[in-house]
Amino acid sequence: MSKPVALITGAHRGIGAAIAKKLASEGFALALAARSLDALNAFAAQLAAQGADVAVFGCDVSDPAQVDALVKGIQEKFGRLDAVVNNAGITRDGLLLRMKEEDWNAVLDINLKSVFLVSKAALRLLLKSSQARIVNVSSVVGVTGNAGQTNYAASKAGMIGFSKAMAREYATKGLCVNVVAPGFIESDMTGHLNEAQTAAALGQIPAGRMGTGDDVAAAVSFLVSASSAYVTGQVLCVDGGMAM
Ligand code: NAP
Repeated sequence: MSKPVALITGAHRGIGAAIAKKLASEGFALALAARSLDALNAFAAQLAAQGADVAVFGCDVSDPAQVDALVKGIQEKFGRLDAVVNNAGITRDGLLLRMKEEDWNAVLDINLKSVFLVSKAALRLLLKSSQARIVNVSSVVGVTGNAGQTNYAASKAGMIGFSKAMAREYATKGLCVNVVAPGFIESDMTGHLNEAQTAAALGQIPAGRMGTGDDVAAAVSFLVSASSAYVTGQVLCVDGGMAM
């Protein structure tokens, strides 16, 4: 029988790359999607050198036509899809009074509309799997809010509502839909923070350290595994205790 296939969006760096490595090590074939095809190809070459079965798809996940082409490409390449990890995301931070409509729209389109587009496009193929899973990578900010991130918090909270509604719609079909909500994770997204901002963030983390992509990947790994078959509609915070 062919390997189970996982689609991971935003997969060539940061948290998405850590998830890709982890799922490859657990026997998944990978469909990796992001806008930068060069970066995807370079990362896929590393994974392939370690024995992974991987295909890459240049795709802006906020564009319906590109998302449809992505799922069609997965159908053609692998003929199956077992897990979808909606991980692609951006920030465009700013206080509400100064936030431009374009920053609101970009964040909502890339972080939230993409989850609707990818989940809907992938659904028919996914429902053919005996172990169908969707894991949506939200954020603790979607649970707690954060000053300067009304757009990002709204998008990440929206992912949680979407996931719970979808989990209810497809629970009897064996499709589990869950959310991982990372806290403060070392990546390009947090790399631009200055020392004072980093110290302030660390002060809010009971564990006293930033998380890693591997911390998040471990949670995703459980939620795409056979062991999580009776877990759906849940939000698993991977945040060193930030949101509790
Ligand atoms: P990152 O290093 O900035 O990587 C983001 C990934 O998303 C990149 O691969 C990027 O590739 C892709 N992407 C962005 N816009 C896209 C689009 N329109 N279509 C397709 N792919 C797109 O971010 P990260 O820190 O790993 O974060 C990954 C996820 O975790 C995000 O959803 C983020 O909100 C969430 N998260 C992160 C943290 C943290 O502390 N780092 C905390 C909580 C939640 P291209 O630019 O090539 O498209």
